[in-house]
Amino acid sequence: MVVFDLDDTLIDTRGILVPDALRRVAAAVGTPVERLNAVGKAIGEVLAGLDVTDEQRAAAAAVWYAPDVAPLTALPGARELLDALRAHPDVGLVLLTRGDPARQQQKLDACGLRGCFDEVRIRPIEGPGTKRDDLAAILAKFNVPPGRCLVVGDDEADELAHARALGCVAIKVPQATWADVERTIATLRGANPESRRKPESS
Ligand SMILES: [Mg+2]
Repeated sequence: MVVFDLDDTLIDTRGILVPDALRRVAAAVGTPVERLNAVGKAIGEVLAGLDVTDEQRAAAAAVWYAPDVAPLTALPGARELLDALRAHPDVGLVLLTRGDPARQQQKLDACGLRGCFDEVRIRPIEGPGTKRDDLAAILAKFNVPPGRCLVVGDDEADELAHARALGCVAIKVPQATWADVERTIATLRGANPESRRKPESS
């Protein structure tokens, strides 16, 4: 099984969506965009350190979480990679992402990836729990031993650390493009201890 993150793993969130959203938040709050925390995920993190009124915070949240998504495509090769993985009948594909559910769904639609997965799980950005809870639930639902689950993402604390804690194989997104599909699959295969244990079949 391969569990993919969405933002900055399959789509270029930091390059395409975040600058646009930061501009809208800056306008809503009436502050220079440079004063916003550009690496924040929740709106509270984006506004960290700024003195804003409740009204400004609400206006900022409305545009930060707005599900209208700028023209968006998957990273080069992402769709081809997912299609190639789906061609293997024994490889399950799951998308596990954290964010506003409506916005995440719209991103998936915009980049044409919604139908690529056996399961899509969206963890709301606010609220209790972490992706570790979702990973554990995914392993249980699909009855997959942790050692046979690869977790591919860009965020060490938010997903890769949770994957390792459960005994999954964590793979930090190795590049900003998936264009070389065969090489990526070889990388995934090489990272899978189960496949390394098995002798090469001819
Ligand atoms: Mg990410």
